[in-house]
This record gives sequence, structure tokens and C-alpha cells, in this order.
Amino acid sequence: MSENQKSEQKSKTGEIPFVDYLVLGEDPYLQANECESCGARYFDRRNACASCFEDNFRQVPIATEGEVTSFSIVQMGPIPYVSAVVDCDGTSVKCTLMNVEATPESVKLGMNVKLMTYSMGEDSEGVEAIAFGFEPASS
Ligand SMILES: [Zn+2]
Repeated sequence: MSENQKSEQKSKTGEIPFVDYLVLGEDPYLQANECESCGARYFDRRNACASCFEDNFRQVPIATEGEVTSFSIVQMGPIPYVSAVVDCDGTSVKCTLMNVEATPESVKLGMNVKLMTYSMGEDSEGVEAIAFGFEPASS
């Protein structure tokens, strides 16, 4: 194997999700832990369901499109951003809205948005951290 091929391979596998419920690949998606007895969904790891106290979970993919159900403009640091809750087919996802101006006029409740991913930069080994956000859906 030549040096060139080696570095190419590295850049393909050198991606890690910034949060562990983000599943990377050709079509990235979010994954939740769903309680097998009551269907409550959690993005963080749980030992027991907060609704029914059962402890069996299965991993389920979350819809990659949804509607903004609440949002706020966050003025922290030099660039304001939009923090939002998106309803993805019944599952609430907290996220940052991307590719939208951080003003109350440019974000609407009920607005259709879709999942997107972006690089948060590389570490010294060239491993890229990938984060997710939602952006306005074109349709
Ligand atoms: Zn439950």
C-alpha cells in the first residue's frame, strides 16, 4: 500500500460523532433508547425508564425531519445562535438551528427543518468530531 492510499483510508474512517446518539454514515440519523414497556424515548443512557421504571430499552432511529416547537436566540459569545426543540415524528430533539439567521423574525414555530451534520474540527490525530444540527428544509 502506498503512502497516499494510507492517508486516504484514514480520512474516511477518522470521524467520530460528538454525541453518541448521532449515527454517522451516508445518511446520518439520531438514535434514541426506547422503553420497551411504555415507549418513552431518551437520548441519554438510562438504567431505568423515568416514566414506568422498567429497564428494557431498544434503540430506535429518529425521523430526520421535523417541526420547530420552541426556540430561543442565545446571545453567548460573539455569534448569537438559535437553540430549538424540534418535534421529529413525536420525539422531541434539542438542537441548534443551522443556516438560519439568529433573529426572532427568521425562525417560525412549526417551521420544517431537517437533520444536518457539520465538522467541529479535528484533533491532533486528524480525527474529525461531527456534530448535528437542524436546518430549514427546502420543501
Ligand atoms: Zn417506560
